[in-house]
Amino acid sequence: MKYRPRTIEELDLSGVRRILGEIVKANKTVHAYLLTGPRGAGKTSTARVLARIVNCEQNSKKLGEPCNKCSACESILSGSALDVIEIDAASNRGIDDIRELKEKIRLAPAYLRTKVYIIDEVHMLTSEAFNALLKTLEEPPTHSLFILCTTELHKVPETIVSRCTQIQFTKATTEEMRRAFERVIKGEETTVEEGALEYLAKAVDGSFRDGVKILDQAISNSSNLMLQDLQEIVSGSRGYMIDKLLQAMIAKDGVLALFELNEGVQKGV
Ligand SMILES: [Zn+2]
Repeated sequence: MKYRPRTIEELDLSGVRRILGEIVKANKTVHAYLLTGPRGAGKTSTARVLARIVNCEQNSKKLGEPCNKCSACESILSGSALDVIEIDAASNRGIDDIRELKEKIRLAPAYLRTKVYIIDEVHMLTSEAFNALLKTLEEPPTHSLFILCTTELHKVPETIVSRCTQIQFTKATTEEMRRAFERVIKGEETTVEEGALEYLAKAVDGSFRDGVKILDQAISNSSNLMLQDLQEIVSGSRGYMIDKLLQAMIAKDGVLALFELNEGVQKGV
């Protein structure tokens, strides 16, 4: 995705910016973070910013914003850094996966200062895998950083939670959404009709990911963004509506599911 936040300053949630700012200012060494909160709120982007903060060549003596220009930052930005390992726990949830991970962890980083493990949807791990992860978190190797992400904190064992520095992601406010969209608008040098960004911010209900996706689509059609363009994409966005419906069904929220279904029918999805 284009226009992911690349620095602490660019992160969209003010609460998350503040926490990371404090950690960096205190030059604190953290071995495990737990990023919790709704989907699309910027957890993965933040994890990657953290990976650069601890590895940026300019931060070797004191933590600070990543420069995003040195070879360490560049390799992480391009996704080619071998020492930054992203694991989707939904598909690598077994004991063998974690055992393999444990073996890798014992090895020092090959190129970067700190080996970073980003484990997405960590609540999906099996209990055996959680036990193995716990042992690692109890005695983390000095050259490692674990960043666990979850949308369902209540499914993560307390023993794991208590060993992590927790960062809570909240649903974005309209103002925070606007800020994120303005970064995209600036990057694309697009003009935008008054009120269009506010409309989109409300329509995507706190999901940066959905909002930026819709914005990106609108911008690719026109360099002068009108409110109506966004309205058409939002109302015609089948995937978006169906996604909302599925989410409500998964959450077993019957009333919301019916509401989304009704909305979809009315919009002809
Ligand atoms: Zn750098």
